Amino acid sequence: ALPPIETDCVVIGAGPVGLFQVFQLGLQGLHAQVVDTLPAVGGQCLALYPDKPIYDIPGLPVCTGRELAERLLQQTRPFAPTFHLSQEVAELARQADGRWHLLTSTGTRFLTRTVFIAAGVGAFVARSLRLEGIAAFEGRQVHYQTPAAATLAGQRLLINGADDAAVQTAVEAGRLRQSADANAPRSVTLLHRKDAFEAAPELLAELAALRAADLVRVAVGQAIGLQTHDSAQGLRLTGLQIATADDEELTLPADQVLVFLGLAPRLGPLADWGLAMERKLLPVDPASCGTELPGIFAVGDINHYPGKRKLILCGFHEATMAAFAAAQWLSPNQAPVRLQYTTTSTQLQQRLGVA
Ligand code: FAD
Repeated sequence: ALPPIETDCVVIGAGPVGLFQVFQLGLQGLHAQVVDTLPAVGGQCLALYPDKPIYDIPGLPVCTGRELAERLLQQTRPFAPTFHLSQEVAELARQADGRWHLLTSTGTRFLTRTVFIAAGVGAFVARSLRLEGIAAFEGRQVHYQTPAAATLAGQRLLINGADDAAVQTAVEAGRLRQSADANAPRSVTLLHRKDAFEAAPELLAELAALRAADLVRVAVGQAIGLQTHDSAQGLRLTGLQIATADDEELTLPADQVLVFLGLAPRLGPLADWGLAMERKLLPVDPASCGTELPGIFAVGDINHYPGKRKLILCGFHEATMAAFAAAQWLSPNQAPVRLQYTTTSTQLQQRLGVA
């Protein structure tokens, strides 16, 4: 195993509040390591409403979820945070020296003096296809992320979903068939409850063209079961049983199934870290956003205190309170952390790289 990354601050969650936490820690002269299960930053704003408008960010009359995530990321740049994406913080345990040891699902380890839990409504993970017996095929014939192109070569590909990722994957597979690429699947079927898909207009136009050329087929219905075949090579998935809109049942043959049913938040391992939880939330002291464990702060949608409102702007305030409290906690023998203005403080401007 790699040695742990030794640091002052780890932020769990790169949603809007985790990102602003990084910024506020930076103003305090503190560098942050950030972990998120998603492959990109932005939390709910990016995972749940990337193209919808937000109207209540102070000073920004309107911006989309994606834009807000981009702007917050840009604002952290002067402090050069290190992002550890596509991994979940699985364990958090106190060490004899008072530091916290964190372990992620991909094996990254941290030894840190403070932790900022900005875990929102939980870790975002791909929503799974709930069919009896499916677990045996996950990772081999059923995937929640597009596998290497060679895995799909010559295979009957079934894509379940209707979002951008589903359409994009179907179009890419259709293009491979069109150009008779060596990795082209034998067939490409896109399965959804309705013949309606949510993706960028250009992508939808390309899908329509590939359908017209019979390079991609669309099947309307819902997966209700697996069709399997047992042979000397072992049990193989050969197709999905589908219920159509007219309540008929049919089988769609498939060697590889790609599932894009969106993301769902899962509270996950956080519940096992020895932190008191109230209705799946972490109670904090609003003056510091500190939890009852020393050096552990909770900010944004995951925390709770009297009067709490689950709004981005409230999370920004909480991140500010937590950064001040953490700076004091990390330097207990120093004078109280002073309030300084970014407008006039040379020290803050140096940290921001503008002085
Ligand atoms: P999140 O955005 O939930 O981010 C938490 C991140 O932590 C996630 O990326 C998750 O994957 C990660 N995570 C969790 N656990 C782990 C773990 N163990 N390891 C690694 N990563 C982990 N608010 C407004 O103020 N204005 C609006 O207009 C508005 N509109 C909204 C519209 C919709 C449709 C929805 C659903 C919400 C809206 N909200 C709005 C609410 C707002 O999005 C949330 O308040 C905000 O996203 C909370 O930010 P956060 O950073 O606390 O958590």
